[in-house]
Amino acid sequence: LGKSLTNTMKKLAGMTIIDEKTIKEVVKDIQRALIQSDVNINLVLKLSKRIEDRSLNEKPPKGITPREHVITIVYDEMVNLLGKEPHELEITDKPYKIMFLGLQGSGKTTTIGKVCRFLQKKGFSPAVVCTDTWRPAAYEQLKQLTEEMQIQLYGDPDNKDAVDLAKKGLKTFKSKKIIIFDTAGRHKEEKDLLNEMETLSEVINPNESMLVIDGTIGQQASEQAKAFSNATNVGSIIITKLDGSAKGGGALSAVAEIGAPIKFIGTGERLDDFEIFDPERFISRLLGMGDIKSLIEKAEEVVDEDLANETMNAMLSGKFTLKDMKNQFDMMNKMGPMKQLMNMIPGLGGNIPKEASQMTEDKINGYKIIMSSMSKYEMENPKAIKQSRVIRIAKGAGVRNEDVKELLKYYNNTKRAMKGMGKRNMGGGSMNRLM
Ligand code: GDP
Ligand code: MG
Repeated sequence: LGKSLTNTMKKLAGMTIIDEKTIKEVVKDIQRALIQSDVNINLVLKLSKRIEDRSLNEKPPKGITPREHVITIVYDEMVNLLGKEPHELEITDKPYKIMFLGLQGSGKTTTIGKVCRFLQKKGFSPAVVCTDTWRPAAYEQLKQLTEEMQIQLYGDPDNKDAVDLAKKGLKTFKSKKIIIFDTAGRHKEEKDLLNEMETLSEVINPNESMLVIDGTIGQQASEQAKAFSNATNVGSIIITKLDGSAKGGGALSAVAEIGAPIKFIGTGERLDDFEIFDPERFISRLLGMGDIKSLIEKAEEVVDEDLANETMNAMLSGKFTLKDMKNQFDMMNKMGPMKQLMNMIPGLGGNIPKEASQMTEDKINGYKIIMSSMSKYEMENPKAIKQSRVIRIAKGAGVRNEDVKELLKYYNNTKRAMKGMGKRNMGGGSMNRLM
């Protein structure tokens, strides 16, 4: 988004009195700025209505001034549009078939390389099928990319029948866990391209269709999204080229248009220029909120406290997953070692679980790396992590199987100790005071 929205936010941050009139003025400014930044007009109206309503009606939480409150509402509404939590790529079926969609030049083929690298880091070895019969040297480009990563590729530069290529690719890789299909982004006419995608989609029957959108194209993003979404079932979006000055304002409209979540962003031409999409970071960047970031953080301390309480309660009730353990690690990084934390709890003094008190920072970081190779499902359902998953996770994290097992053992011991502790010592009250 452009400079003017940043200016609006700054102006708002500088205001001392917030009343109905100023809120309306601010909302007008925000509307103007959003429109200038390529956000679709209907979306702008919807957003600004919500911002105005909430600013007028909601009481600021304690410790937050009215103007800080309006800023957090603007931020909050935009984040809500994208979904607060990052959406993960979950490999649920076998084979898990991912079909890439997008216009030529949007970055499909490059992004397939990036997704392959991402999946390799999680311990998967995906296979790729080239069905792009339109771009000269489409197969060569994929061949180079996949050879570099030692990834299996099916394609045939002499075959000009995309549907036939897809069928043969499916057959070739039917025993693979993940198959990724690259497609054309150009045809004689756009209608033909969309027809081809519709047919391909019927033949491939993908578990997930990923639409790749160039982050620099502005308003056209929502039209593109709509066109592809009418022809196929778009399940997720990847925004590319968010390096340089592009802020991806159009992406917001694309998401609102078709309701599919953004899962990743591309931030450069290299394989590692690739990130899991983080809505909050994206919006901060979009709003140019560097200056007022601390303000948002202030408002979020309240939320942080909630998370801490939630994690503590999970710890003590025995409903303690790997996800809670990761939250616990993150808190430990912020607040200091577990031992210190536990010592602060009245009546707990000597009862610190051995495992918790012996954790070193290195160990925690090692465990965090292993957990980053786990899927959301595995983090929430540690019991599901049997041998085959252990092997995959270890491979992805670049550690030995035993290291993953050690982590799981630590987790199980902690869970048991926490549960016992909860029964023996705790009422919720002292924990709340601590937090
Ligand atoms: P396709 O036609 O959709 O398959 O697009 P390609 O993958 O061939 O990419 C088209 C161009 O965009 C290439 O020059 C890529 O290097 C470039 N590209 C792709 N993703 C990114 C990105 O995230 N940032 C930048 N700067 N360039 C990108
Ligand atoms: Mg391509």
